[in-house]
Amino acid sequence: MDGILHVGDGGPDGLFSYNVSHSLAEADGRRKSKYYAVTLAELVQEIQGNGKRYAIVGIPCFIKAARLLALQNPALAEQFAYYVGLVCGHLKTRFFAESLAWQIGVPPEQLASVDFRVKNPERPASRYDMAVSSADDPTTVLQHEVAKLLGGSWGHAVFQPEGCNFCDDIFAETADVVFGDAWLPQYSKDWRGNNVLVSRNEQIDELLRAGQREGEIQLDEIDVAAAVASQAGNYRHRRDGLAVRLHDDIRAGLSVPRKRVSPGLAHVTRRRVKLIRQRRRISALSFGAFRAALASGRIETYLERLRPELSKHDRLSKKPFAGMRRRLQNLVRRLRRGQGAR
Ligand SMILES: Cc1cc2nc3c(=O)[nH]c(=O)nc-3n(C[C@H](O)[C@H](O)[C@H](O)COP(=O)(O)OP(=O)(O)OC[C@H]3O[C@@H](n4cnc5c(N)ncnc54)[C@H](O)[C@@H]3O)c2cc1C
Ligand code: SF4
Repeated sequence: MDGILHVGDGGPDGLFSYNVSHSLAEADGRRKSKYYAVTLAELVQEIQGNGKRYAIVGIPCFIKAARLLALQNPALAEQFAYYVGLVCGHLKTRFFAESLAWQIGVPPEQLASVDFRVKNPERPASRYDMAVSSADDPTTVLQHEVAKLLGGSWGHAVFQPEGCNFCDDIFAETADVVFGDAWLPQYSKDWRGNNVLVSRNEQIDELLRAGQREGEIQLDEIDVAAAVASQAGNYRHRRDGLAVRLHDDIRAGLSVPRKRVSPGLAHVTRRRVKLIRQRRRISALSFGAFRAALASGRIETYLERLRPELSKHDRLSKKPFAGMRRRLQNLVRRLRRGQGAR
């Protein structure tokens, strides 16, 4: 194998783009998730027919696109040696990077660099920071916990392209191997993070076993249910949520793709239907709200538009009567303590 096709810093159209890494050092410099819209089109044209073989890294829809391309193009089929998938919740446009950076203090026209995931030893892996720098002072890096920024919660789905509303591939089903975050209690407390991975290729199985034998990696085998549980929200969105969105669009007279779930509402509560619709509404609204902020030069334009929508989402996502249940439990506890004191 001669190189890796994956996403790294820089590029003609923004902060990130697909690149070829030819060495381990180069590959190492292009680690980490880039929540950013990129294209493979130019790079594939560049490498096509050069006789070299590559591992191609991508989110599920990119891996599927590469597989389909390989089916039509025997030269590329030879060149794509391994397909490496990334578990994906949804894509983000560049507005995601810009909106978070602006909240941290760097406005879009000044944005020079973004690191979407900076590990923080004082917090569990899920509560990572984002680091940004500004063109007028690239050496000063500003850092902030992502979940505390508006739109930083993945569940709010800001700047999610509409296409992702119809995607049902979470574990990159056409990849040889796929890596995700191990969002399971026994792993996510570790601030350094852990991967959940599914291998569908014997050579990769052997590579992983060799890595374990040599002490380079530690592998724990988990069952399918645990792998699914590591992406529980993702599955709710792409199975229960997808069925509702298909139902809604058919009712609105729109054409929809054929998916593995059937359109309908009966499988979820009315409250959940509202939540699914609210999430879709937030995605759609976020684009216009951020464009308005760019036009006004004020991030508050975006924040003020989104805040009530996110609050509504959060209210719907809470278990009904959760507050009342908690108050009742506290009351019972107090009463019991009171009895014990007598
Ligand atoms: C759009 C997006 C959505 C995601 N959603 C989820 C999710 O819902 N649940 C979850 O568990 N994990 C999600 N991830 C994270 C993904 O699971 C991790 O990237 C994966 O586990 C790899 O682990 P790592 O970051 O430790 O690997 P690293 O060693 O840091 O390597 C990451 C590799 O991915 C490449 N890469 C980064 N971004 C992209 C990109 N946009 N397109 C192609 N290649 C890229 C890098 O170049 C690098 O080679 C998402 C990632 C992306 C890019
Ligand atoms: S959710 Fe599906 S369509 Fe959207 S970016 Fe991820 S893999 Fe692609």
